[in-house]
Amino acid sequence: MKVLIACLATETNTFSPIPTGTLAFEELAVTRSATSEPANLFSAPLHEWRRLAEQRGWAVVESLSACAQPSGTTIKRAYEAYRDEILADVQAHMPDIFLIFMHGAMIAEGYEDCEGDLLARARAILGDSAVIGMENDLHNHLTQAMLDAANLIVAFKEYPHTDSTDRARELFRMAADTAEAKIDPVMRDYDCRMINMFHTTRAPMQKFVADMQAREAMGDVLSLSLCHGFPWGDCERVGARMLAITDGNAERASAVAREFGEYLWSLRQQIKADWPTIGQAFDRVEAADAFPVVLADFADNAGGGAPADSTFVLQEVLKRGLRDVAIGIFWDPVLVRMCRDVGVGGRMQVRVGGKVGAMSGDPVDINVTICGLKEGMSQMMGQSAMPMGTGVWLETDGVHLILSDKRTQAFHPTAFTDLGCDLAAMRAVVVKSSQHFYAGFAPIASEVIYMATPGAITPDYARIPYAKRDPNYWPRVENPFQN
Ligand SMILES: [Zn+2]
Repeated sequence: MKVLIACLATETNTFSPIPTGTLAFEELAVTRSATSEPANLFSAPLHEWRRLAEQRGWAVVESLSACAQPSGTTIKRAYEAYRDEILADVQAHMPDIFLIFMHGAMIAEGYEDCEGDLLARARAILGDSAVIGMENDLHNHLTQAMLDAANLIVAFKEYPHTDSTDRARELFRMAADTAEAKIDPVMRDYDCRMINMFHTTRAPMQKFVADMQAREAMGDVLSLSLCHGFPWGDCERVGARMLAITDGNAERASAVAREFGEYLWSLRQQIKADWPTIGQAFDRVEAADAFPVVLADFADNAGGGAPADSTFVLQEVLKRGLRDVAIGIFWDPVLVRMCRDVGVGGRMQVRVGGKVGAMSGDPVDINVTICGLKEGMSQMMGQSAMPMGTGVWLETDGVHLILSDKRTQAFHPTAFTDLGCDLAAMRAVVVKSSQHFYAGFAPIASEVIYMATPGAITPDYARIPYAKRDPNYWPRVENPFQN
């Protein structure tokens, strides 16, 4: 058997002002030897696929692995160049099994469904006898083109995404069984008509994940994936879809997908985001008696394509005159560059935030001390090291700001502590992240508060200004199944 492995991944926020071109990919990871380099969230599956294939004595061909931090629509020539490089390898090596990690929510100029496009072209090259398997982030838009071209699609189950390697292992096993004619996988999906974020770290979604796994263990389905959807990617298929894979039984796959889709629908009132405003959240901080309170600036999450330089929370903190508050990570390569020139201990007047677009709010002018500076920083996200670039710690009147020159969300307390900023001394720690912060920050938090902040990925799902998506979805309408 010959296995070809590849990765092409970014999550496209079509409302983000930041274009995604080759520079954006090169800044994060573009390599032809991903498995001999440290794994990131999206290349970790390639490491696992190589290990499992070599264990069986199978040949492994490694193609491109390219990922970019989520941002706006991908530039056409960047997508086409990466796609064509992978397809050229497929054509040159004609593998028995083609395994690829793609995010699942990549939109390029002229391509609303990059994953479906790439897989359809791979299928045209390989014909029906080869096995095509794709692993996705769960924030994907599951399309018919993807389902038609692939034999197997498996999405992460956990958000935060701590299970990329586990899902890779399951996909490999099913792909190997398919290639050896032990199973004949059939995929069916169910449209849940829901747009929301689904946090699997707490009830009821934690149990939903456990129930999917319990059902997989029963044996009548090979795999279940809840494709959460990515709400800020304007396309026809945005929304949650349930995917079931069975061994040759299309009817059962449809029935189980529907069963779990209806289960998700039944949970909607419990998972509805009803979060405090920034002001309400800081009222709670001021009334708290245990610290630090960790607050999520949900809408300025670089991981969802936001600029990571909004100032709405900073302005509230300064207005209240609060001290012992840390906020990060602001993306500001220009200011980081200036701080490198001045050095630790220096004092300067700076303009922070509000620079990338209107959705970042107004910039803030403050006098700061440079308290820490470190090059080559990274943060752990599960078992993956996520690069942060050069980090800077600035302080003004007890308010501590963390900046970086690589745009990234706050995944882990080390983004602050590696610079010397002691989070145990803070009343509040504000993270520019929607949910990936949780695994790292919950253990140090007295309490975690998600804030309904303004910004590029505001959690007001009923009002996202879609041009391509049918408006018949919850929570825009109370019951989309009645229409
Ligand atoms: Zn995701």
